[in-house]
Amino acid sequence: MQFQSKLPEVGTTVFTVMSALASKAKAMNLGQGFPDFPMSSELIEMVNGAMRQGYNQYAPMEGWLPLRETIAEKIEDLYQHTVRADSEITITPGGTYAIYTALTTLLQPGDEVIVFEPAYDSYIPNIRVNGAVPVSIPLEYPSYSINWSTVRAAVNSKTKLIMLNSPHNPTGAVLRHEDIEELRKLVHGTNIFIHSDEVYEHIVFDGLPHLSMIRYPDLFERSFVSFSLGKVFHCTGWKMGYSVAPEWLMKEFRKVHQFNAFSVHTPVQVAMASFLKEKSNYISLSGFMQEKRDHFRDLMSKTRFKPLASHGSYFQIYSYSAISDAPDFDFAKELVAHHGVAAIPVSAFYQSGKDDKVLRFCFAKKKETLEAGVGKLAKV
Ligand code: PMP
Repeated sequence: MQFQSKLPEVGTTVFTVMSALASKAKAMNLGQGFPDFPMSSELIEMVNGAMRQGYNQYAPMEGWLPLRETIAEKIEDLYQHTVRADSEITITPGGTYAIYTALTTLLQPGDEVIVFEPAYDSYIPNIRVNGAVPVSIPLEYPSYSINWSTVRAAVNSKTKLIMLNSPHNPTGAVLRHEDIEELRKLVHGTNIFIHSDEVYEHIVFDGLPHLSMIRYPDLFERSFVSFSLGKVFHCTGWKMGYSVAPEWLMKEFRKVHQFNAFSVHTPVQVAMASFLKEKSNYISLSGFMQEKRDHFRDLMSKTRFKPLASHGSYFQIYSYSAISDAPDFDFAKELVAHHGVAAIPVSAFYQSGKDDKVLRFCFAKKKETLEAGVGKLAKV
């Protein structure tokens, strides 16, 4: 039998490779992007309670309405825009699924999609699996900001979509007001859509605001915005997220979702509808994570790694060019094998493998993990 792969270029991800090396070497894993500290036991109890109360059958395809209503209130509060819980929000099994579904809703074979690299690893395969063409634009090293004149030069009649991600994985860069103005000018009067990955909306530091697409009616009218409740409540393994888009786009999104997952874990939605009502449960996240980020940076200042500006997300990136000339993959492997710390080489987030000698560290970890990990890095 013959079979043509839809994603022939996709192999084992860097996360799998690094995690396998980390566990073999019994290394501190500062590579993987998820917390190693416990989530709220209150939320766990609430999910248990929902199960005992009998919320164990299919939820509505669009998501549990009280959860969508609470999300709509949160959006109104944070981004001063009214989104309709009935027709503009859909609960999804995680942010990655929301992204995939948005792209599958929009893309036709041959469409071009502008993707900034380094890019979260699902974007390009999601574009390709839909027969569309990724047009990669590198972010400017070392600020990892967008060069808008390069973007303007890349736009043509086939450009269907621009993919944004702020706060950004892997670099922690965030969009600024100037970026929003450039984006507005660029898309005005065109048929270009926007996908905005905002899974780290509550993890922004240094007093900077999170500039959600939902704040800007002229941008939101052409946008899908993807969120992750797993990131907000330290339960990435629950795979809970949601998509927000204007009604005419969300109607099409639901057609794709309906015949894929169809609906999402009911008891978790019921519990999250109540938990999310308490604003402090998500407003406190930036402060909590900034404390970890600042502690990590303090510890790292005693090493030979040089920090690059990172203002959000779970991640901080560091240059090791003062330590070694080795390619970042080799350096990361050496770090695991000889120094017992796993980090992710940033070249893995580029199709071209562009290597600026930068590693991504995840600081969403217990104090002890950070101190033990950086203790080892101090000897490098
Ligand atoms: N987008 C980005 C930028 C991420 O870092 C992640 C999580 N690693 C996701 C989306 C996916 O979120 P979820 O776990 O809810 O699918």
